[in-house]
Amino acid sequence: MADAEAEIKIPKTYKAVVYDKPGTISTKVVELETPEPGMGEVLINLTHSGVCHSDLGIMTNSWPALPYPTPAGQVGGHEGVGKVVKLGPGCERSGVKVGARVGVKWVASICDNCAACREGHDANCFKQKISGYHHPGTFAQYLISSASYVTPIPACLPSQLAAPFLCAGLTAYSALRKSGARAGDQIAILGSGGGLGHIAVQLATRGMGLRVVAVDAESKRGISVASGAEAFVAHTAPDVVGAVRGASDGGVGVRAVLVLAGADAAYDGAVGMLRFGGRVVCVGVPEGEGKPVRGCVPVSVVARELSVVGCAVGGRREADEVLGFAARGVVEVRVREERMEGLTGVFEEMERGMLEGRVVLSLE
Ligand SMILES: [Zn+2]
Ligand SMILES: [Zn+2]
Repeated sequence: MADAEAEIKIPKTYKAVVYDKPGTISTKVVELETPEPGMGEVLINLTHSGVCHSDLGIMTNSWPALPYPTPAGQVGGHEGVGKVVKLGPGCERSGVKVGARVGVKWVASICDNCAACREGHDANCFKQKISGYHHPGTFAQYLISSASYVTPIPACLPSQLAAPFLCAGLTAYSALRKSGARAGDQIAILGSGGGLGHIAVQLATRGMGLRVVAVDAESKRGISVASGAEAFVAHTAPDVVGAVRGASDGGVGVRAVLVLAGADAAYDGAVGMLRFGGRVVCVGVPEGEGKPVRGCVPVSVVARELSVVGCAVGGRREADEVLGFAARGVVEVRVREERMEGLTGVFEEMERGMLEGRVVLSLE
């Protein structure tokens, strides 16, 4: 181990992208001092980081669920891939070695001891720390992370293709599992052409044997259908709910609706698309408080035995599983590589809803 460490040169400073004017869309590339890993921590030399819609929410302070405003100088990002270059004390039990390629997720670290952790719901840990919010995030060449909570990256998977699975892929997979849908079932995916959406459609259709009615902007029809959707409905259609039901077998509605779009309008139609016994999985977070899910009233929930569940991100076991799908080539994530200097422009496109697939920053 000492030899491996000796071979790796760690610079005194490194480049990172920070939010220089939180509350607005603005980022800046800065030079920071390389930190030392503490107890149970590793230092990672990141090569790639995905750019997620949640980063936009953190930068613009638009999520009331996160308790304090983002400070200027915060390094954002939570889909990082890189190589471990140094171990802090007490990392032995984690099994992580210098030179290993690992991923950093939205949840940067957990306590491993609260009720959620003990039930295996580590993504809901009461004491979780969030990458790019509580901790410096992955828009940086170097990063400290918890040795026991990094995700191993399969050897055959290139880093730029692995990065989107650490939040988008993980969340899509977890949402599909939480939908309760089984092979052969029809589901609707609202926001099917975005970073999260196009992975969700592929995992659903090619990985889990589900049939997908995709809903998004007309411009996202191509990517949605190429991802495996058997029907596409533009969200600007005069009767989106009717069109989704019309695409379902017998017109009775779909088994589950994944709401990936962070828009109240997407939630408005979700319950109406369900068949009896159906389930809405809430994933996208609208700005501000968000409105109640329309149609979610006792009379229809009881009579049609509906359910509404939430999905924040997936846990570490689901992270391993979804990277397995990626390594087996089940999902072809559509990636556009950008440099650190281009991040502000990426967020501007994201806010306008113009991004297809996933943008990944190259950090080298
Ligand atoms: Zn994310
Ligand atoms: Zn915990």
